[in-house]
Amino acid sequence: MSTDVVPEPLTEPDAAEDIALPLVYARKLASAVRSRSGDRTPGVSKALVADLLPLAVSSPGAETLASHSPMTGELLAEVPMATVNDVEHALAAARRAQLEWRERSIADRAKIIMRLHDLALSQQEEVLDLIQMEGGKARGHAFEEVADVAITARHFARRANDYLSVTHHNGLLPMLFRTEEHLQPKGVIGIISPWNYPLTLVVTDALAALMAGNAVILKPDSETPLIALWGARLFKQAGLPDGLFQLVVGPGRTIGTALIERADYICFTGSTATGRRIAEQCGSRLIGCSLELGGKNGMYVADDVHIDVAAEGAVRACYANAGQLCVSIERIVLHEKIADEFIDLFSNRVRNLIMGSAVDFSTSIGSLINQDQLDTITKHVDDAVAHGAKVLVGGKARPDLGPYFYEPTLLEGVTPECLCYAQETFGPVVAVYRVSSDEEAIELINNTDYGLNASVWTSDDDRGRRIARRIQAGTVNINEGYVAAWASVGSPMGGMKDSGLARRHGKDGIRKYCEPQTIATHLFAHSKMGLGLLYELPDSVWTNVMSKTLRALKVAGLK
Ligand code: NAD
Repeated sequence: MSTDVVPEPLTEPDAAEDIALPLVYARKLASAVRSRSGDRTPGVSKALVADLLPLAVSSPGAETLASHSPMTGELLAEVPMATVNDVEHALAAARRAQLEWRERSIADRAKIIMRLHDLALSQQEEVLDLIQMEGGKARGHAFEEVADVAITARHFARRANDYLSVTHHNGLLPMLFRTEEHLQPKGVIGIISPWNYPLTLVVTDALAALMAGNAVILKPDSETPLIALWGARLFKQAGLPDGLFQLVVGPGRTIGTALIERADYICFTGSTATGRRIAEQCGSRLIGCSLELGGKNGMYVADDVHIDVAAEGAVRACYANAGQLCVSIERIVLHEKIADEFIDLFSNRVRNLIMGSAVDFSTSIGSLINQDQLDTITKHVDDAVAHGAKVLVGGKARPDLGPYFYEPTLLEGVTPECLCYAQETFGPVVAVYRVSSDEEAIELINNTDYGLNASVWTSDDDRGRRIARRIQAGTVNINEGYVAAWASVGSPMGGMKDSGLARRHGKDGIRKYCEPQTIATHLFAHSKMGLGLLYELPDSVWTNVMSKTLRALKVAGLK
């Protein structure tokens, strides 16, 4: 894509721009629209919105939810919301559709998911614009979502058969029993998703549930309904039968709750506070749930690293999607021997990041999602400064770029009294700490209620893995921030401690949507050769025979 937009460097806003904010936004938008690729006009067209809105489950005269662009503040669409009654109807339709779907072969389901893979890649220009405009992120980070959809679709389409196939187990006595473990789909899966990775967290958890033979009802976050609807259209375009993936828009407390009260399993991604509430609700219905929650992720940079490599990786690890990423790094723990040099190199790289709202690849940091996010981030930084922390880079909102822009920020001197010491900031704010040993680094990284992701940088991979095994986090990346573990989609992804329950990706990520069922057949029962023969003996005899048999089975090495 050609980029005729002048990138915004991380410099002070000028006074005139500070005053004339609406004009500035208009200029940014005009500049974005100028960055054409061929005859494509970047942005969200009326035709696209008209195509997407009917995919939201709703009734005539429904109340609407306004979707605004965080980049510019402009209204993108009025999206019809669902009522509790609509959720009820959606559930009934999903149950009907699932009865046929569960009987389809895995190979049949995989064909649809592979078509979805191709469509996501071939239609990426449209969705990258949409993710940028409605989600606020830089285009490179938006592309990570498209790539993640493709990677996960390919994985489950190709591996579901292995993950879901019938397993045979030893019965009580060899030859006398045939014991099979089947994985039955749970039925209708409710997915409740956040705004920060609004395409991938809508599509990828759903496609695992669908591959396992379930139907899905999704409630997306109210900040990003259009992107979720684009995901719904992707399933439809790929050929998924009607009713199997439905989308209900509305507030978490009403529409989310209506879904939790009716679905057979809940896959939730969001904050730890909401996750706890949802776990209680699911517990009272005795349905399962997976909870993908927050983090306060730490990165350790050991004394043997190539510092430039670590500094470059740390920028990606800390500021992807302006830090609004569950697995992004908010604490950098530096070995004292390399701390000063690392801070210098890292700070220079951060100062050179280009922020802005251009709908193209010319920027590397976009906008925060909304005013709440801006308020939290401002509060965390101001509070740290009030407690004596030093701002090494950034530390300011950038209203000259858009309503919710905040500079990528680096702090030193954050103490346990500061809000951002233990709380998740979920923004472009990172603090550095110094340690004198691996031991001290592990202790500091583990000193949090969270346990989602961590990162270790060392030129000795074995040392990295030794350290990693002692870190209490669901994923640890060595010489990478988060991509290595996240994109290894055959391996489980999720959090320990307050960061969640259960996992997405791989075997765990698809089997959670299934009920394991044991089917054990007593062979030869009708030819009187089975257990009946044994039980016909007097108790003193059959228990004696059984004891001898159990000893023999141990000697024979049976498991
Ligand atoms: P949130 O918990 O406020 O909202 C997430 C979703 O839950 C939204 O769809 C919302 O409408 C819904 N919701 C809110 N209250 C509800 C209720 N009472 N009942 C049912 N549904 C309800 O989360 P957020 O603050 O918007 O998202 C950011 C958080 O998500 C961060 O903490 C981040 O770390 C976390 N996150 C985690 C992962 C992961 O994979 N672990 C991924 C992305 C985001």
